[in-house]
Amino acid sequence: MTKRKGCCRFFNGTVHDKCDAGVNYRQLVGGPDVGWLTRLPCHKKYRIDGYATCDKFTEPNEKEIAESQAVEEESLRHIKAILPYINRMKQKYGWDKPRRRGKRGTEQCPCPVCKEGTLKIEISGTNGHTCGRCSTAGCVNWME
Ligand code: SF4
Ligand SMILES: [Zn+2]
Repeated sequence: MTKRKGCCRFFNGTVHDKCDAGVNYRQLVGGPDVGWLTRLPCHKKYRIDGYATCDKFTEPNEKEIAESQAVEEESLRHIKAILPYINRMKQKYGWDKPRRRGKRGTEQCPCPVCKEGTLKIEISGTNGHTCGRCSTAGCVNWME
């Protein structure tokens, strides 16, 4: 998760039960299920009256913000590089149109990111989602 001013350095998204400081979001907030997300204290900007307080809230420093943004920019560059390959596969296996049902398949190509490894992409026969991995350690690796 990209670190920003005003957002707790431990926030990792509410798809997780607990933040990176080990605080359970739902337990911290308590109260009724209706609107519980809006009572989280993790983003200063989105706090409402009566938000839950958290004694572990701390903002990231400038260095952490810069490092996190660099990671995000790098991952955007990777996505831009591999997107044409994913789109070509979706077309080839029949998953490029809404409500169309395509086939599963696997393809390999030279990796457009590191330009050294082999990129292996698989497309699901169930929903057309892709997953892929480059043979170079630490290079791209994703699952839609
Ligand atoms: S404010 Fe508390 S619950 Fe939210 S991310 Fe920070 S430590 Fe976790
Ligand atoms: Zn690679």
